Amino acid sequence: MNQKPQPLYAPRDRKRCPVCGQVSYSAVGIHPQCAVHQADEKRMQGVKSRSNAAKEPAPPPVMQRWQKACPSCRALMHVRKKLCDCGHAFAATNSQ
Ligand SMILES: [Zn+2]
Ligand SMILES: [Zn+2]
Repeated sequence: MNQKPQPLYAPRDRKRCPVCGQVSYSAVGIHPQCAVHQADEKRMQGVKSRSNAAKEPAPPPVMQRWQKACPSCRALMHVRKKLCDCGHAFAATNSQ
């Protein structure tokens, strides 16, 4: 029985993944999933620092179906209200 030939590459020549420390068979020496994981961590840190630096402004109020906006003071009120608190009188509508 013949002995198996020695592999062309020795195990110690294989690169180790710098992320998980396991031997990597890829040419770059880092597992693709580990590279993604590393990039994700960097991205998450960037997002975290950015969100802390600049706070997002509060979203504008959403007008409901039963609401209308006063063209004078932009206040939201019930559609059936005919007079705004600012004194703006809405024109009568014949929609119904
Ligand atoms: Zn790895
Ligand atoms: Zn008004």
